[in-house]
Amino acid sequence: MSKIFNLLIIGGGASGLAAAVTAVSMGLEHIAILERLPRTGKKILATGNGRCNLSHQHITASDYQGSYDVTRILENFGKAETFFETLGLYCRTDEQGRIYPYSMSANAVLDALRLHCSGVPEFCNEQAVKLFCQNKIWHILTEAGTEYLSRFVIVSTGGTVQPKFGTDGSAFRMLKELHIPVIQGKPILCPLLSDKNILRPLKGLRVKGSVSLYHKNQIIRTETGEIQFTEQALSGICIFNLSSYLKHQFSEYQISVNLFPELEMTEIIARLYRCQAVRCTCVCEDMLSGLMQKPLARAVLKQIGIRSDMSCNQLSDLQIRQLAGICHDFRFPVLGTVKEQAQASAGGVSGTALDKHLQVKACPGLYITGEAVDVHAPCGGYQLHWAWASGNAAGKNIAEILHNAGEKF
Ligand SMILES: Cc1cc2nc3c(=O)[nH]c(=O)nc-3n(C[C@H](O)[C@H](O)[C@H](O)COP(=O)(O)OP(=O)(O)OC[C@H]3O[C@@H](n4cnc5c(N)ncnc54)[C@H](O)[C@@H]3O)c2cc1C
Repeated sequence: MSKIFNLLIIGGGASGLAAAVTAVSMGLEHIAILERLPRTGKKILATGNGRCNLSHQHITASDYQGSYDVTRILENFGKAETFFETLGLYCRTDEQGRIYPYSMSANAVLDALRLHCSGVPEFCNEQAVKLFCQNKIWHILTEAGTEYLSRFVIVSTGGTVQPKFGTDGSAFRMLKELHIPVIQGKPILCPLLSDKNILRPLKGLRVKGSVSLYHKNQIIRTETGEIQFTEQALSGICIFNLSSYLKHQFSEYQISVNLFPELEMTEIIARLYRCQAVRCTCVCEDMLSGLMQKPLARAVLKQIGIRSDMSCNQLSDLQIRQLAGICHDFRFPVLGTVKEQAQASAGGVSGTALDKHLQVKACPGLYITGEAVDVHAPCGGYQLHWAWASGNAAGKNIAEILHNAGEKF
């Protein structure tokens, strides 16, 4: 007979490690982690460009979308800095409220988690493929043919994007076999594909501005920040955040780029007239270069059918107004998402299937955490905050149940 663990965590990523740390802190023994990759925490090391933006100063439940109400779990968890301080890791906050480890190194976050649960065996290169419960004991079968037994199981296998970090959505198959409702995953927090003909000449540009997502001409969401233009996509954190709001066919959406969000239309028009007066002997693209980078000036002019080498003193009042209009609302069609660059996925186990501790209501002893739950949030540390908070909630509840039952850990 195999050893029966108290808690087996499937997936040694952010939420799985947070669950392990919490359970260990509460004195729980006989815990193990199953990880399909050769080591745990590989994705954590890649977060925040290697610096790990582990939380945000201003997090509320309203920052999260999905079918699970995160309010209670966030409240109970409190601040991520406090959680990490108890593990001996200090944090710092940047001017935008994003929280990082004090050393600005993602390694420090993974170290903090792993050092705290150094007694917990990690079974790596082990991919769980089947789960079932018999006589209150969970059986976990791996691709290699090993069987693990445990009284409690946490599924913290992440979402459906970034297979190089072990997350390809295949783990949802074993949950569906248990008739647990899973909402189809889709990539989010990623660049948005658009018209190559407009984008190609803009490749490599980075401009400050605001971007709005339109669905059938109705504005859904506006974000401000640096917009990056690539050969076939619009990118940058502000675009990543808009990608979470795509719920219908891509063809129903457009992105509007506002190059001067801080200026009223009348002020843009006034500036254009001033540039025209001062540079009256120049061609249009040179006239505009006082306001924007040249490739953008050419693209803006092309959009309204004005040749960039036309003398700017020929611009009519109507054309000045059209130019101002495009500067405020430069439209790009949405043709798709760049899945390979997605930082997360929407979808996962439906919130309706889970109780307030993230236990599957129909499967006592089985918990789901992190991105595997149908919960998602914008860039800026919100995703990882949910991973820590949800892992903490599940680990704590399991330790409490065993404790209250008077069990010897
Ligand atoms: C490049 C990049 C940068 C990011 N930067 C940030 C950031 O700065 N801030 C932020 O808040 N969020 C960031 N994110 C998002 C964040 O990393 C994730 O939302 C978070 O890691 C999710 O945690 P998780 O525990 O649910 O899953 P993961 O951390 O993805 O861990 C899941 C683990 O489960 C394992 N696994 C999967 N299936 C099985 C199986 N069947 N058997 C065994 N093991 C399995 C995987 O190998 C993986 O190790 C970033 C994501 C990426 C890709």
